[in-house]
Amino acid sequence: ARPVVAIVGRPNVGKSTIFNRIIGDRLAIVEDKPGITRDRIYGIGEWNGKAFSIIDTGGIEIDGEDVIMKSIRMQAELAIEEADVIVFMCDAKAGITQSDEEVAEMLYRSGKPIVVAVNKVDNIGRSELIYEFYGFGFGDPIGVSGSHGTGVGDLLDAIVEKL
Ligand code: GDP
Ligand code: MG
Repeated sequence: ARPVVAIVGRPNVGKSTIFNRIIGDRLAIVEDKPGITRDRIYGIGEWNGKAFSIIDTGGIEIDGEDVIMKSIRMQAELAIEEADVIVFMCDAKAGITQSDEEVAEMLYRSGKPIVVAVNKVDNIGRSELIYEFYGFGFGDPIGVSGSHGTGVGDLLDAIVEKL
């Protein structure tokens, strides 16, 4: 079986945008079971001759901060169970938020290999925004832009290195 990569993070950081850039047209399964924990999309990624399954989590937007946080937590738990490598996606524009801290804590306890991707680094001026994310202690954060596709190759290098 292929190794499994999961993308986790709070809503709107750009998980689905980066997921789509990674899979191209290799969409595998869309789980349409109702409910917040089973809302997951599976695709296939390939980089430097290495193939992997990749999961995009958390597409449903639910109103209410408590419910959103609960769903982020459940998705992170499932990712920890299923994935060999977890991409923890954050937003350079927003910086580190309380929800990010919570997810980071769970991921830290899991002991799984983590790659921190900092999305929305759309221009050179924003590249310094990634430094704050060293604070998680998961190693070098990778700046990416889902809008422009920049940094996605570096992110894939970092993922494949940990597979
Ligand atoms: P998800 O909820 O984490 O899956 O995030 P989405 O991929 O749905 O993206 C959330 C919003 O952020 C959408 O409006 C995207 O167009 C926008 N977005 C995604 N990537 C980028 C990026 O690199 N730069 C900017 N400025 N916006 C982005
Ligand atoms: Mg999404």
